[in-house]
Amino acid sequence: MNALETLKTYFGYDTFREGQEKIVEAILANRDVLAIMPTGAGKSICYQIPALMLPGITLVISPLISLMQDQVKALNDAGIHAAFINSSLTENQISKALYLAASGRYKIIYVAPERLENYEFLEFARNVEISMVTVDEAHCISQWGQDFRPSYLKIVEFIKNLPKRPIVSAFTATATEEVKNDILCTLSLADPEVVITGFDRKNLYYSVENIRRKDEFIMEYIEKHPTESGIIYCATRKNVDNLFELLFKRGVPVTRYHAGLTNETRKKNQDDFIYDRTPVIIATNAFGMGIDKSNVRYVIHYNMPQSMENYYQEAGRAGRDGENSQCILLFSLQDVMIDRMLLDNKDFSDVDEEDEYLIRQRDIRRLQTMEGYCKTTGCLRNYILEYFGEKTSGPCDNCGNCHREYHEVDMTAEAKWVVNCVAETRGRYGLTIVLGTLMGAKRARLRELRTDQYKSYGALSGHSEAELRTLISQMTEMGYLYQTQEKYSVLKLGDITPLKDENTRVIMRTYEEKEPDKKKKTQKAVRKRSTDALTSAGYDLFEILRKLRLEIAKEESMPPYIIFSDKTLIDMCVKKPSDEEEMLNVSGVGANKLKKYGQRFLEEIQKFCTERPGVTLSMTEEGEE
Ligand code: ADP
Ligand code: ZN
Repeated sequence: MNALETLKTYFGYDTFREGQEKIVEAILANRDVLAIMPTGAGKSICYQIPALMLPGITLVISPLISLMQDQVKALNDAGIHAAFINSSLTENQISKALYLAASGRYKIIYVAPERLENYEFLEFARNVEISMVTVDEAHCISQWGQDFRPSYLKIVEFIKNLPKRPIVSAFTATATEEVKNDILCTLSLADPEVVITGFDRKNLYYSVENIRRKDEFIMEYIEKHPTESGIIYCATRKNVDNLFELLFKRGVPVTRYHAGLTNETRKKNQDDFIYDRTPVIIATNAFGMGIDKSNVRYVIHYNMPQSMENYYQEAGRAGRDGENSQCILLFSLQDVMIDRMLLDNKDFSDVDEEDEYLIRQRDIRRLQTMEGYCKTTGCLRNYILEYFGEKTSGPCDNCGNCHREYHEVDMTAEAKWVVNCVAETRGRYGLTIVLGTLMGAKRARLRELRTDQYKSYGALSGHSEAELRTLISQMTEMGYLYQTQEKYSVLKLGDITPLKDENTRVIMRTYEEKEPDKKKKTQKAVRKRSTDALTSAGYDLFEILRKLRLEIAKEESMPPYIIFSDKTLIDMCVKKPSDEEEMLNVSGVGANKLKKYGQRFLEEIQKFCTERPGVTLSMTEEGEE
């Protein structure tokens, strides 16, 4: 079997993705490899396929226990014998696994780096044929990165101690020059093939929403996407708890994760999320390392992250299966002020002065970069890619800003009238009264309160209510006004000193959503959600297949996305396979999965098609109505 046949038979895919083939070929030609590819690009297959084709065993060094377990489950499900050896096993289990491994049972063995120093393991490794050592998350070897693992430094020595030097392949998603050079040197890669693919994740749709009513936005979003799995990141544990309570009370199947929960609860909540028992999770940035859940359809940031690196990593947990997914950042100027305050109050007592200065400068720069992302009216994808040093060409037509037309209007004079009006109310009334007064509305309530006697009464009668609402909300953001939080919230004056300077301008920003650029569609293929490829009947079938997948997942205690990805289920709806051979044409259905699950899915599809004869399931299907 050649590489492409192996890909088809075991993983059910027809073609390699960018970079994969080159890596596989280099390894099969006995060369070392360093591959730098973004999350979701498909790194695992790059070493798993050669591992199947090389004569001996492949050892995969991986830092995270949960990741190993997931990978091994997925491999076994694809009919590939694999095992992991880490501290979650008892000594007995380890000895048994090593015994089976020595007898040739496994092609792929995942180990934690600490294990490489273990005597029993070394003995084992010296007595079997090891064709390749794969270093996953290879950036952990770099002292430059945040994820430095001292035990990764032992890898080289381990390799030296083997009777025959195996091929060494290293994989990471971290692209900085320092990390790359560190990996190359520290691992002593021998004339390696270095493959770096683009960092763009085309299936991710980025957007920034400038809003204050974040909870409502999130409620609405979840209501519109009820069956989808998503992560909502908050800056603090308190935010997590509050939002969790709110959503939980409204009946959303939601769980939470932060460092204030016990280990046990954290583990349980994480599992509930992974197994789709509660498809939505609210978490601090403590959550996510080692989460391989591929069907996360959206990642919402409730607060602005501290740096672009953090944002890209967290947002990147969406859409690992390659399906279209959304990354939404909820932005409010108040967050920036809080972040700045946190920086000002950061404790530097253990750091000497010079370092303190440097760290402060760095933190401020990071924050400014994020602020720039939130405020830009340009293409968001390009903003990210340029930050990571990649060349870009023209707006992507696949992000929030590319689909918006921004307008900026000087509203300084109007803003001053708003201030006058709020001053006249002496901060006693709410938004409705202030708006009505400014617009000169003829309402009994205004006469009763005598606001129709104000100088500001009717001063802005030429503006629409919507426009004035936007103005007032942006003035609140800017700190000129504030709205109290009680039940009957009233508008009060904030700090208006800047407005007294006649050079200060109040620029109001509005936008309209616009249609994706039709002309560009052919060039860059605007990607809609892939379930959009389905008709509503197709979507019904997709839901039925998802249920079946969940049922099987329960029976086998496996995460549903390991059984089949969303992408595979959608492809089943599009291709409507009626027998095993057609089923094999579905992307993601390999020989072993066909044997294990094929019949049950075929039956479900058959049943659906008999019940609704002649039904059209996908948009591309022709004339079957
Ligand atoms: P990474 O480790 O780079 O984040 P994974 O190895 O987890 O990415 O792969 C992400 C997803 O892409 C998985 O669901 C995997 O099965 C799928 N995938 C990988 N290679 C291909 C391919 N050639 N064709 C289709 N899907 C693929
Ligand atoms: Zn764009």
